[in-house]
Amino acid sequence: MYVQNFLKRTGICLAASLFAAVTQAADVVLIPIDPPGLGLNDPTPVDPLPTNPGTTVGEQRFNAFQAGAQKWGDTLASDVPVFVAASFQPQPCSAFGGVLASAGPTFIFTNFPGAEVAETWYVGATADSLAGEDLAPGVVDSVAFFNSDLGTPGCLENSSWYYGLDGNEAPGQIDFLAVVTHELAHGLGFLELVDFETGEFFFGLPDIYSTFMLDTSTGKLFTEMTPAERLAAQVDSGDLAWAGENVTAAAPAVLGPRPAIRILRPKTLQGKLDVQQASFGPDLRVNGGITGQVVLADDGSDSPTLACEPLVNNVSGKIALIDRGGCAFTTKTLNAQAAGAKGVIVANNLPEGPAPMGGFSPDVSIPAVGITLEQGNELKGAGKVELKLTRDKDKLAGTNDSGQVLLYAPNPFQPGSSNSHFDTSANPSLLMEPSITPGLDAANNLDLTPALFDDIGWVLQ
Ligand SMILES: [Zn+2]
Repeated sequence: MYVQNFLKRTGICLAASLFAAVTQAADVVLIPIDPPGLGLNDPTPVDPLPTNPGTTVGEQRFNAFQAGAQKWGDTLASDVPVFVAASFQPQPCSAFGGVLASAGPTFIFTNFPGAEVAETWYVGATADSLAGEDLAPGVVDSVAFFNSDLGTPGCLENSSWYYGLDGNEAPGQIDFLAVVTHELAHGLGFLELVDFETGEFFFGLPDIYSTFMLDTSTGKLFTEMTPAERLAAQVDSGDLAWAGENVTAAAPAVLGPRPAIRILRPKTLQGKLDVQQASFGPDLRVNGGITGQVVLADDGSDSPTLACEPLVNNVSGKIALIDRGGCAFTTKTLNAQAAGAKGVIVANNLPEGPAPMGGFSPDVSIPAVGITLEQGNELKGAGKVELKLTRDKDKLAGTNDSGQVLLYAPNPFQPGSSNSHFDTSANPSLLMEPSITPGLDAANNLDLTPALFDDIGWVLQ
């Protein structure tokens, strides 16, 4: 879901035009640019799906793409069609992970008729909508590329695209409609254009997205920062937030309570800790939350607290405390589960926020959370610790303490992912997180993305 294909071509419209009132649904038009026989034109026969009547791979891809385009058309109001070029091409990929797709705008504009904020870049689709005319006639507004290698040897070979429109993918399948909907959103303006190596704005001007980027640590918006301050803010994980009022207003109806640990004893540590819930395993509220004694895992190896091997100490009925590193979070959790643990806490091995706890395993049946390196050291040094894995109903998952939704800001910066997505601490998972999450229902639920478009200037239907 990277956005690395922003073409960095710019145009400045100087022509005058009458501002047309926005009255109708946006028309999002798909333009396949695959050669005959490939990608969106793939003639390989397939059985129709209950929600996708296509009888070839290409037809099913096209239908799913149209459904994503239709979803945005029904959500946004504009008198100017949005033209999106789409193609299936190889993307960076390995057996363990890869780029599913990438997308971005082809042109950006500033100081055009109808621009709501002067001296600020807008992507072509947003600018066209505000201007009430096509500012770059005859040229597509964005491009989207989808990984044609997915499911082939060396590229997530146990995965495949799912072309149904009901969000009902099987384990291992990746919901193409959700990915399309996500990528279209980047082309519609869900991305920032700051130079991540220098912190400079693009040709000296902020883009409309970055005008809403706020570093809670300093209280400064990106537009109030020096380039050096932007370099620090873009990796300020947990503190880089979206300051737009529509997203903040919409968040309570979309996001659930924040995952937390409540420490019951010792008294010296009592209180709540924010944690990162794993992307696998049951919710923290299962059975009202898990309460138990914390036991540091021991797998009998030279690095015993990594729990990459079967555990040799007694964690039965306890909550296993494990260190990050050496193997997958799912492997650690399954080793603790096999030894009878009823919950898992993974302490980060880097000073960069909670252990991220990504991964997928249908075999995990106990809840697992990530905490910071510092929190892990506190728990280890506190003697006998009893705590509860739960949720803090006073705070929203994926927000700062002011209720502003967090942006993805890992350290080091991840080009194509950082800042141009919501943070992975959001729960339920959001469409615009950097990685696709199983179970997203993009056909029916665009969650906070329309509110963000509202913030950057789109008119919603
Ligand atoms: Zn993305």
